[in-house]
Amino acid sequence: MGNAKIRLKDRWKELQQTKDALLATNFYNFETLQGIIKAASISKRPIILQLTRSSIEYMGLPVAKSIAESALSYHNVEGWIHLDHGDSYELAASCLDAGFDSVMIDASEKSFSENVKISKAVVKLAEKYGASVEAELGYVAKLGQNTGKTGFTEPEEAKLFIEETGIDALAIAIGTAHGFYKEEPKLDLDRLVAIREMTNAALVLHGASGISNNVLYEAVQKGISKINLATEIKNIFMKTLKGLVAGNNEIDLRKVFPPAISSVTSLVLNKLEVIQHKVS
Ligand SMILES: [Zn+2]
Repeated sequence: MGNAKIRLKDRWKELQQTKDALLATNFYNFETLQGIIKAASISKRPIILQLTRSSIEYMGLPVAKSIAESALSYHNVEGWIHLDHGDSYELAASCLDAGFDSVMIDASEKSFSENVKISKAVVKLAEKYGASVEAELGYVAKLGQNTGKTGFTEPEEAKLFIEETGIDALAIAIGTAHGFYKEEPKLDLDRLVAIREMTNAALVLHGASGISNNVLYEAVQKGISKINLATEIKNIFMKTLKGLVAGNNEIDLRKVFPPAISSVTSLVLNKLEVIQHKVS
């Protein structure tokens, strides 16, 4: 297992040529992982399984990595394990050492030069592991942060940043934010096209929860190679679960969880179909 796998690092070019994207899904426990894997298995599509620092701390790094890897293998799904929003060099290093295929180093709130410095250091380290590195340039509001503030990615800066750091993938700010939206934002797709034309790294869309299907598809056609999905997964799982446990005396959790797992499967299946334009 694992040895015949195409490195994520080598996948990006191909995706850019075919105007295809990978869905990158955050999992939080066994049940959300199960829901995601089932969707990937049914659709026969590859998937990126992402972990944030909180999820790693919740499950334990080797445990989180192992269950993701065994789930991919057991269900015969092509996939990669990725650190989402790595906030330090040390965390990225631990994940690379644990065998992650890819890490994100997010120094987007630091100055341009600080961001270059730390991202470049992670790229250098990741080379030894043949792992892909994602960084972020621009302001994509995190949960609880001001979504009114803007800091869209400038194409010229993106070009310079990619050249100076040698990163494989870049998260760009074109109007999305993390979490749900009060109203769907209008994405700056012209800016996306400009960044795509000036750079060669894979472009990543964070904050895709709540972006309509046709806009997501258009973003892929215009150069997005990785779409991150987190909030909607947590939301559908917990909403379904709350409905299941209210007034329910069942203590066999293996009978309680399955509909919540299925709700994640349906959601992820839908997004996988959106990327391929099977639904609009
Ligand atoms: Zn994100």
